[in-house]
Amino acid sequence: MSLNVIMMGPPGAGKGTQALLFAEKCGLPKISTGDILREAVSEGTSLGLKAKAVIDSGELVDDVTMIGIVRERLLKADVAAGFVLDGFPRTVSQAKALDGIVEELKKDSLIVVAIEVPDEDLLRRMTTRRVCQGCGRNADPVEAKLLSCPKCGGDFSQRTDDNIQVIKERLKVYARDTAPLLDYYNGRQTFCLIDGTQSPGRVSEMLLEAIKAVSRADSAVRTEPGQRIERE
Ligand code: ADP
Ligand code: ZN
Repeated sequence: MSLNVIMMGPPGAGKGTQALLFAEKCGLPKISTGDILREAVSEGTSLGLKAKAVIDSGELVDDVTMIGIVRERLLKADVAAGFVLDGFPRTVSQAKALDGIVEELKKDSLIVVAIEVPDEDLLRRMTTRRVCQGCGRNADPVEAKLLSCPKCGGDFSQRTDDNIQVIKERLKVYARDTAPLLDYYNGRQTFCLIDGTQSPGRVSEMLLEAIKAVSRADSAVRTEPGQRIERE
């Protein structure tokens, strides 16, 4: 059985950090659409040229482009045992397309993790966030005092979209386009909500437990279709 996880939540909720921790723990590839776009921007590809202005305005890159990128990625062999998607889907039409891809490629059902953090915490986190230019990791509070990344030696710097105006726009776009996805996924056997206000280590533990619980429940449901699963 493969573990196909999508990590949802507002910008600054810790999706990227948690996706990385979980993917490393389970030996799965982490697929971050934000990282893919930022890489394209730094390489100056045609995708990068198109995406740069959109990202820096806080808006979303169009669905057709994003769906194409993710579909290509999910065709690769390294996702056979599963994947952790970070930053996708971000709109209901991306979510519908992803369901289509899962069906087309005959993949196990998606496990949907939504990390919840109140807006005031998000603002504080993003305005103080430092990101490694080398490996793309967010600096933890201790590392943030350093100039370069202890893992790869890359420079820590602020993302161009982590300034107050753009952050406010991203939160608006999240509420408008992405929050409706919670309703889209809510009610699925494999949907879990996680309190993202705790420390990264604690969030990671809760997330692991929640994913274990829902994937157990889901395989029970699929192997014994008559049985009802009681969930908290
Ligand atoms: P955040 O910290 O806001 O979650 P990400 O690193 O996931 O940031 O994404 C940065 C930017 O890249 C987004 O604000 C958006 O412009 C673009 N982007 C990333 N993923 C998607 C997507 N699935 N659909 C549309 N745009 C996206
Ligand atoms: Zn690094």
